[in-house]
Amino acid sequence: MIALSRTIAVGAAALSLAACATVPAPQTGPSLDMVEARLAEDIGALAADDFGGRYPGSEGEAKTQRWLIQRYSEIGLQPGAGEGDWTQDFTLVRRQPSEEAGSSTATATRGSRSVSLSQGLIAVDPGRDDANLADVPIVGLDPDFEELQPRSLVNRAVRVPAAELPRLFSKFEAAAPKALIVTTQTAEEYEKTAGLISRGRWRLGSDTSGPAVLLLSPQASAGLSDAIGANAKRHPDGLGLIAYDTILKASIAQKTDRIETANVIGRLPGRVPGAGAVVLLAHWDHLGDDCGPPDATDRLCNGAVDNASGLAVMIEAVRIALQGGPLDRDVIVLATSSEELGLLGAKAFAADPPVPLPTIAAAFNLDTMAIAPRGTPVVVLGAGKTALDYGISEVARVRGREIVPSDLQDAFLPRQDGWALLVEGVPAVLVSSALADRADFESFMGSDYHRASDDPARGVELGGAAEDTLLHAGLIRYFGSLQTYPGGGG
Ligand SMILES: [Zn+2]
Repeated sequence: MIALSRTIAVGAAALSLAACATVPAPQTGPSLDMVEARLAEDIGALAADDFGGRYPGSEGEAKTQRWLIQRYSEIGLQPGAGEGDWTQDFTLVRRQPSEEAGSSTATATRGSRSVSLSQGLIAVDPGRDDANLADVPIVGLDPDFEELQPRSLVNRAVRVPAAELPRLFSKFEAAAPKALIVTTQTAEEYEKTAGLISRGRWRLGSDTSGPAVLLLSPQASAGLSDAIGANAKRHPDGLGLIAYDTILKASIAQKTDRIETANVIGRLPGRVPGAGAVVLLAHWDHLGDDCGPPDATDRLCNGAVDNASGLAVMIEAVRIALQGGPLDRDVIVLATSSEELGLLGAKAFAADPPVPLPTIAAAFNLDTMAIAPRGTPVVVLGAGKTALDYGISEVARVRGREIVPSDLQDAFLPRQDGWALLVEGVPAVLVSSALADRADFESFMGSDYHRASDDPARGVELGGAAEDTLLHAGLIRYFGSLQTYPGGGG
């Protein structure tokens, strides 16, 4: 589960109920004790110290990949990434301002007069390696503007006071400016904003979105105001912009880091060609061995609950569901990378899926599963947003599991991999006991979450996770069958 939410509007709405069909009674499956023992074994392996906290690109990733491919093979899966590959490889990129003072330069020019903006300039272009700007008109925002027109800032550099940045940042997304020129009034404001801009964020290498950001010192900010002078005038097209008749030129020096990583994908083809697929997903990555306070004695975040438990539940649920052989639909098992860095593996899957996204009848994400004891109800994260609700309630009823609503839905729906599929129109939910008991969940979030103490050596509660495993085995069979779930996919 990722730490910060980034809200994107989603237009998903409740869809019509799937056709009624009776759910087959559960076959006599493994006992909960047996399931718990298997989960404990897998969590113990994946969250062992020698997997290093499973950071993308690390030796821990190589070990995790080998472990997953071994398990996928054991439960009868075939390579699912296309062309006989188990792995869907992709590159992560993080660009940060160069730490060398004076290495980035910028000038603002009006007519024959130029002012340098280079003194104290901190600049980064998060989406591009070649970060030079030439002949970019500088504009400001009309104080009365409410919304910016989509793409109204393409090939423009917008002057924004640092104090306004948090309020305005989301408004820039659709307007797609080429650059933001962030101005400051005090040294304190400059330092604080520099910290935010310099941190950098990992993104998919294929993601070139977003503007370059140029943070000006108070002196350079005053110089820019001086250059613009009395030229400010409202844009004749009424776009909420102020034209300055001033041109930006910049050369941005940045340091770029790259990580090669991969999703690990297995697949069991269904019996009915063209019937679509059921997807199970769980993120394999965690925070690595450079985690927590610098002076802590244990700095390895093992990620036992987050998310070795999700992988273990996924593999065991698929193993149980497929014991009777293939279903009508394909079953795709997706261990995603880089969830902790912003759902990046799930986004990479959605951007280049091995099967067309509209053929995915149902997707079940498994994240941070091992928190609640046996007998805990389940929450459906994504309830009301897909056509899966009826089938889930039927399978839960037959298995004697109660579904309860959760007021955590709004906060946590965008913080898990299923979100990256849901925003692309895939019916993706997270069904889990872990969110159902508020006290247990908050106790985990307040103690072991994203800390070195999320360690199998400290003991992991497996009761709810074992029950959720059997529930998911039932969900895979229900949604994998054209008889019980004819709708969706294919
Ligand atoms: Zn996490």
